[in-house]
Amino acid sequence: MMPFIYNGLPSRVIFGQGTLSRLADEVRELGCHRALVLATLEQAGQAREVLAQLGELGAGLFAEARMHTPVEVTDAAMRHLEELEADCTVAIGGGSTIGLGKAIALRTGLPQVAIPTTYAGSEMTPILGETRDGLKTTQRTLEVLPEVVIYDVELTLGLPVGMSGTSGINAIAHAVEALYAKDRNPVVSLMAEEGIAALSRSLPRIAQEPANQTARSDALYGAWLCGACLGSVGMSLHHKLCHTLGGSFDLPHAETHTIVLPHAVAYNAGAAPEAMSRIARALGSDDAAGGLHDLARAVGAPLALADIGLQASDIDRATQIATSNPYWNPREIEADGIHRLLSDAHAGRRPT
Ligand code: NAD
Repeated sequence: MMPFIYNGLPSRVIFGQGTLSRLADEVRELGCHRALVLATLEQAGQAREVLAQLGELGAGLFAEARMHTPVEVTDAAMRHLEELEADCTVAIGGGSTIGLGKAIALRTGLPQVAIPTTYAGSEMTPILGETRDGLKTTQRTLEVLPEVVIYDVELTLGLPVGMSGTSGINAIAHAVEALYAKDRNPVVSLMAEEGIAALSRSLPRIAQEPANQTARSDALYGAWLCGACLGSVGMSLHHKLCHTLGGSFDLPHAETHTIVLPHAVAYNAGAAPEAMSRIARALGSDDAAGGLHDLARAVGAPLALADIGLQASDIDRATQIATSNPYWNPREIEADGIHRLLSDAHAGRRPT
């Protein structure tokens, strides 16, 4: 056994069907009496139901959360929070809404309940990305980790099929990179393998039968495990590339992760053989990179960066940005190899 350091993250996780019914008790357990419910405009209806369920513990609703946590949205939410004299937040939604709850916690120290409805995993991490004047900066601090996470499978039944597939593969990406992280440890690696297995068996089923309770339950379970991986150990090439493509070329988050992942894995394959065999085993495939490409195809996800807005002429600049700041990766970051990786991802080729 190689030496390792393991830090457990202090959060309370409630998982199951209909678990939203425990929300009021959880708010009371936190010692809170006036919860501000957060959501995007698209999920305002769902958020109003949550507010109704809170009864006298519900202070109000702020349904203006947006992608990449712009500080002007956080400022508006803060004003609302102060007017209502709220003493905690309840975020219902994906990474964008949960990001807003984290940004408020950073500024106020107020406790948060997160109720995730996608598979992105932000609820399990002490990581916050915020955007000011178009520039996104990321920080890691336990102050933003939600105190309570309520996973309710029923809230995910309506997640559209397309988003379910890409959001699920976005989650798998956290587990994949956890398996070859520099600071990996046996506990997180077990969670990673189990998370990949749960998502890879459930996502194709969801694509066929979106309201299948067993598949939805497996997918949310996998998303929890993969989110915990992201929160626990460092990420490398794949996340760096997706950050570059999202930030500099405005590509959509989950789709970008889905397309890049098989190619980032192919790039790292020779340098991380043990991780590759664990990924392949979890996928039920004989090849990690090819198996991830096949999974994306099986869920009907886009396979080529060209299909989500990256121009062939952008590849040189993307390579330059992605190789300009050194960071740890199992294989050395070489411009020629990254250019080839991005060209393959742009064309949607199956990695060999
Ligand atoms: P999202 O939160 O942006 O959601 C996309 C859209 O889907 C929104 O309109 C949302 O309201 C809607 N939606 C969510 N769940 C739904 C459901 N069940 N049914 C119908 N519509 C639903 O998407 P995301 O992929 O979850 O999050 C992406 C953002 O989260 C990015 O900004 C990313 O950087 C961030 N993120 C942060 C972390 C972290 O650890 N800090 C981790 C993962 C993602």
